[in-house]
Amino acid sequence: MDLGIAGKWALVCGASKGLGLGCAQALAGEGVNVVMVARGVETLEAAAAALCASAGRASKVQLLTVAADITTAAGREAALAAHSGYDIVINNAAGPPPGSFRDWDREAWLKAIDTNMLTPIELIKATLDGMLERGFGRIVNITSSAVKAPIDILGLSNGARSGLTGFVAGLARNPDIAARGVTINNLLPGKFDTDRLAATMQGAAQKTGKPLQDIRAMQQAQIPAQRFGTAQEFGAVCAFLCSQQAAYLTGQNVLLDGGAYPGTY
Ligand code: NAP
Repeated sequence: MDLGIAGKWALVCGASKGLGLGCAQALAGEGVNVVMVARGVETLEAAAAALCASAGRASKVQLLTVAADITTAAGREAALAAHSGYDIVINNAAGPPPGSFRDWDREAWLKAIDTNMLTPIELIKATLDGMLERGFGRIVNITSSAVKAPIDILGLSNGARSGLTGFVAGLARNPDIAARGVTINNLLPGKFDTDRLAATMQGAAQKTGKPLQDIRAMQQAQIPAQRFGTAQEFGAVCAFLCSQQAAYLTGQNVLLDGGAYPGTY
């Protein structure tokens, strides 16, 4: 299926590895020009070079990189200056650390809210009006399955991401936006095989004294699909949310978790 977005411009945050890179790859594969943002310049340049070298449409699109911290005003300015008039924005940054609510002070909360709620809102604010003027826009916020089923040790994530989810639910349904070609959705990852998941499992192995492969096997066994998702699978769904075909899909929380969420709805 041709997603009908070749030639559009996308800003993909957190794009040097993991889920963000999966989204950048899928969009570039659809002929979308991509501005890739991450803090670490070496990994970012290597990811962009590998994407450029790939066969197919991805090798023909324009790929720009911005090494910046998207949670800072300067970082966002640099990302927005790389191209004027983004058609697609993928909001993404590191998730907050796990822990106990007794240990989180005001600073920890403000950092989580800044990273996982206010940064996406700032980028929406900066790009939405241009999308409305051009009559086309797709905004996808990478959040977490924790929004639907909270994870006890990820309280900072549960809280900050729920704030973003509530805000987006209202904004996406505003007729001034929904009737003018712009959709805003959240994509909720369950467990995906990325560096972040590897680090979490490493932490669990150290804490429990169990071998890493046992932790991995145990976690996979809890997922009906019996495996972790891949960044490519995540990117493919993201690209569909950005497609012309998905024009009637807005204000949704799309859960991608191999069946792990146990609810009927
Ligand atoms: P990852 O493999 O660690 O990749 C994170 C990417 O984001 C990297 O490219 C990283 O590069 C970049 N990044 C992080 N903070 C940034 C910042 N402040 N500014 C710009 N770039 C930044 O993580 P992931 O697994 O793809 O996770 C992506 C998001 O999904 C996170 O918020 C995570 O909590 C959430 N999530 C993931 C899973 C999962 O199973 N993987 C499940 C639920 C939720 P630099 O470090 O160089 O900046």
